[in-house]
Amino acid sequence: PSALPRRPIRELPDELVSQIAAGEVVERPASVVRELVDNALDAGATQVAVKLVAGGVRSIVVEDDGAGIEAAELPLALRRHATSKIGSLVDLESVSTMGFRGEALAAIASVADVSLLSRTAGAAHAVRLDARSGELGPAARAVGTSVEVRELFFNTPARRKFLKTDATELAHAVEAVRRHALARPDVGFSVWHEGRLVAQWRAAGLDQRIQDVLGEDFIDGSRSVEHNAGPLALQGRTGLPEMSRARADQQYVFVNGRYVRDRLIAHGIRSAYEDVLHGQRQPAYVLFATIAPELVDVNVHPTKIEVRFRDGRAVHQAVRRAVESALAVSRAGLAAEAAA
Ligand code: ADP
Ligand code: MG
Repeated sequence: PSALPRRPIRELPDELVSQIAAGEVVERPASVVRELVDNALDAGATQVAVKLVAGGVRSIVVEDDGAGIEAAELPLALRRHATSKIGSLVDLESVSTMGFRGEALAAIASVADVSLLSRTAGAAHAVRLDARSGELGPAARAVGTSVEVRELFFNTPARRKFLKTDATELAHAVEAVRRHALARPDVGFSVWHEGRLVAQWRAAGLDQRIQDVLGEDFIDGSRSVEHNAGPLALQGRTGLPEMSRARADQQYVFVNGRYVRDRLIAHGIRSAYEDVLHGQRQPAYVLFATIAPELVDVNVHPTKIEVRFRDGRAVHQAVRRAVESALAVSRAGLAAEAAA
């Protein structure tokens, strides 16, 4: 028999459960930015401002002009498993919003100081809720929501130690906004660091937004990807071999409007470059995949960054062919130009 004393089974306190959940969702300031911007977009925002201090470690504020949260619901927004986005399993299978677990704000509030400031269209004024004290009171603000997150990981010093320099954390946070900016060209985004504007993307069409985010060089050095057959549609741009990079730092894949890191799609794209890219060279691309919600499971990972396709082979093949033909068109075009 074991020498260990038997320990009774106990239910974990809510606070600890949230901190455990936070471990999966909140790795660094950029993860907070991602979740808060998701929420702003779900609320129908047309303008989103992200304001950071010390790379976001000291403070992160995300302001939106979305629908706002009713004063009476503010405390609920911070509760675990409280969400306005799904109400049934049917909803879960056709989810089109960014959030739905109702976990992000609760998780963030368990590892940082959070306050919510929000106003709905019908309200006479805004209301501010301080998560730690529970204090609720009137405040000034136009319709929309501001979420402030201060002193990330103040109560989990081990986690805080894993954070890198402010400059590195800022770069990750800007990258998180860049992904949203590519997914939602119709929304204006700005990122501020200690009062300085560090990135801004004005509302635009998709082509313009891709150019604004990735630069004119990328537009000139890439070809359009189009595929529209069966249950999968693909749209985007893929870089010519000469635009390849040493690092995989310009590879953006979105599935139904959500940035994902999907090995299957990445492999499909890479294999289209098989004959034209050597060794470790990395192609640059922006690819938007649209697929019927019942053919993809977005509920695989807490941060929803991974997805699972019902028919992975078909997706892989479609991606490979679409990118191959985009590149082939360019090769044929160049050959024709050279011959002329
Ligand atoms: P989820 O997004 O999965 O629902 P969250 O914890 O991120 O869970 O948010 C909880 C709820 O708070 C949301 O369902 C939404 O009703 C509300 N909420 C959060 N952020 C905003 C925002 N910026 N604007 C309006 N409502 C918000
Ligand atoms: Mg959310």
